[in-house]
Amino acid sequence: MEAIQATDRQFSSKTIGRIRLGHSKFLIPDMNRATTHLLAATLRSFDIDAHVLPTYKGLDFGKKFTSGKECYPCLVTLGDLLYFIEEEKQRLGKAFQSGRYVFFMPESEGPCRFGMYNKYQRLVLDSFPELRELRITAATTTDGYSPEGIFDAEHVRSSKKAACLAMVLGDVMDRFIWRVRPYEKAPGRTDALAGQALHRLAGVLEQHGADSPLDRVLRELDEILAEGRAIIDSRVAPKPRIGIVGEIFLRMHQDSNQDLIRVLERYGAEVVNASMGEWLNYVSYDGLRQARRKLRLGLKLLRPPQVKSAIKEILSFGIPLLYQERLQKQVFKRARRRIDIAADHKIGNLEKILKQSGVFSFDIPTEACLSIPGIMHCACGGYNGVVNVYPFACMPSTTTSAVVRPLMHEWRFPYLDTPYDGSCQPNREAAIRTFMYQAEQHLARHGRGT
Ligand code: SF4
Repeated sequence: MEAIQATDRQFSSKTIGRIRLGHSKFLIPDMNRATTHLLAATLRSFDIDAHVLPTYKGLDFGKKFTSGKECYPCLVTLGDLLYFIEEEKQRLGKAFQSGRYVFFMPESEGPCRFGMYNKYQRLVLDSFPELRELRITAATTTDGYSPEGIFDAEHVRSSKKAACLAMVLGDVMDRFIWRVRPYEKAPGRTDALAGQALHRLAGVLEQHGADSPLDRVLRELDEILAEGRAIIDSRVAPKPRIGIVGEIFLRMHQDSNQDLIRVLERYGAEVVNASMGEWLNYVSYDGLRQARRKLRLGLKLLRPPQVKSAIKEILSFGIPLLYQERLQKQVFKRARRRIDIAADHKIGNLEKILKQSGVFSFDIPTEACLSIPGIMHCACGGYNGVVNVYPFACMPSTTTSAVVRPLMHEWRFPYLDTPYDGSCQPNREAAIRTFMYQAEQHLARHGRGT
């Protein structure tokens, strides 16, 4: 694959932005296995030709077409896309047409670089004459990831609800695996069940996702969780509970974080990673927060148009947030009746923790305002250690580390930073082993929550 210099830096709305999918092949980068596969299955029920890209096979492509200064998730997802395209070209030969594909790369409005991934990827695609027709569709945080303009109008609301269900199910499945695997009666049984379970849930969503799937998937989930509970060896003593926070892609993408959760489990941990739902809820919560501030200002300055537009925004962020949190609560409550997986927190509670502590503020957006109170919650809430996972040089996670590291030292609570950039750090295992030793000590002194 050889690139030529990109000469045209004007982005065309025909190849990047809110691209309607139509009958194109919709390519979803794999961030978290359960969630992305359940999401793709759900979208197929809406007649969208959705595919999850194979991941981490195109790392050489990603490295070749980046300078090393980009965020690591940008490199990984670019590599995944270029690898897939290369495979498609070989499979289809002269029949390959890049205009048949739409790549999904969401974005945020900043302040960090998540809004630039798809622009950079567009530049790389434009540098290949044969890939200029391949489009990138981008849902954005500015409207709470609304699929408007991407899916057909009659499916906008139902597809967003169904996608939200897929995400919550993915979170429950992940927590189920992390709850059962450290205590399984025989090695490999949890992973085998999880693989089958994902297939079963995806099957239900693919068949019924567009048609009020909640009851059906919950029944299937009940059976899966009961099967999982039977795998637990009740004679194994509770292990140190370790929370994971940090940048969402790195903490979810097991190839990029070099299978961190399994390494922690190998050294005796029971892990709870922050959820995907946390980020989706945060995006709506932050939009609602900003709209409320706009309303207050509009009322103070007596500006009716500003008041009107603020009320519209409050509804457009507040209603989805209410829906997402209710659905999350409903699914988690039902799952927790079958097996004691960790519950998820509300974003409002994280803001309260920050306000009370005064160490950071929700006024500074990005993941730092989730990770910092997430760590403090773990330190006060029955955990025995926390790991902060992030791409090397990630701005919000470095901020998190700077704020939290001295605090955890003061609280004598085990805390570990784990930055990743694709290279193998020689002292990684030693650092994790030492951290787990501290977590064992913490467990012996303080016990752990249920
Ligand atoms: S969160 Fe970190 S990795 Fe993600 S875009 Fe921002 S700086 Fe880059």
